[in-house]
Amino acid sequence: MAARLLDGTRIAADIRAELTSRVENCTQQAQRPPTLGILLVGDNPASQVYVNTKSRVGDALGVNVDVVRLPATITLDAAQDVVHRFNCSAAHDGILVQSPLPSSLGPIAEQRLFEVIDPAKDVDGFHPTNVGRLAQGRALFAPCTPSAILELLDRSCINLEGRRAVVIGRSQIVGKPVALMLLHRHATVTVCHSRTRDLPALARDADILVAALGRPAFVTPEFVKPGATVIDVGINRLVDSSIVRALLPVGSPRLETFARRGSLLIGDVHPAVAETAGALTPVPGGVGPMTVAMLMVNTVRAAEKRLEAAV
Ligand code: NAD
Repeated sequence: MAARLLDGTRIAADIRAELTSRVENCTQQAQRPPTLGILLVGDNPASQVYVNTKSRVGDALGVNVDVVRLPATITLDAAQDVVHRFNCSAAHDGILVQSPLPSSLGPIAEQRLFEVIDPAKDVDGFHPTNVGRLAQGRALFAPCTPSAILELLDRSCINLEGRRAVVIGRSQIVGKPVALMLLHRHATVTVCHSRTRDLPALARDADILVAALGRPAFVTPEFVKPGATVIDVGINRLVDSSIVRALLPVGSPRLETFARRGSLLIGDVHPAVAETAGALTPVPGGVGPMTVAMLMVNTVRAAEKRLEAAV
């Protein structure tokens, strides 16, 4: 039987609709809209698309998204100056540094930029203070993609307490924080990574399986317990028609999309998993739109907290 699709596009629209009156209240009280400052360095095409999406969603909601674009040739000091400016600005409620940063900035550039963000404006939740507070279950802001996953599960009425969760991937931005958040919600959590042995057997134990490894269609039906909930975080753009044809069944409408666009977004989960899983997030239309919605939630929350502090 085909899995229930967990529709991130629809749930994200609900979340944005629920935010509207809060955005209006903030705008009225502050005499300006809630504002998110984004620093985008370099010309990574995927990052450009993500930042444009954040701006578009913000505009539609009445949240001001102020994007500062710097060339990849900039120094780390100059990039830090932009973050300092956002920190000191009375008009910016939230700050986001778009990753990945160009390699020309050095191997620890992300860390260096995240750690100069004011934790009270850190709507992506990557400042060490917020990472530490997340470990203690009291982050000022939890990172957006893990928050998106928890919100999707909650709003789809998928119970977490006492259930086995397996997270594939241990990145700072997805794998580790989502594992902590599942743990706080009383799931029994296993984190797997590139050196994990016998991954399919571990994954098959999961009631809730989160795939966040960045390998297209890696999680095949043999990784999935029948009826499990599978959250596909991966976003992989495929351009090779032989790979796309091997992944999708003949007659799939997605083949037409590929023929029209010359590329196709595929998650970390193989399309055939839809026949084994009980519930599954689609790619696109699952975790992606939810992540942007949760960024807006965090930005509005940051604006509300600043207004409360000003009273
Ligand atoms: P990352 O490259 O930082 O981390 C990947 C993790 O997967 C690592 O911990 C690594 O150990 C593990 N891994 C890699 N190969 C593996 C293998 N063969 N077996 C087991 N584990 C393996 O990636 P990330 O930033 O966490 O992103 C993961 C995916 O999620 C990417 O496709 C990315 O584009 C996508 N992503 C989507 C959203 C969204 O909003 N939907 C947000 C962030 C990331």
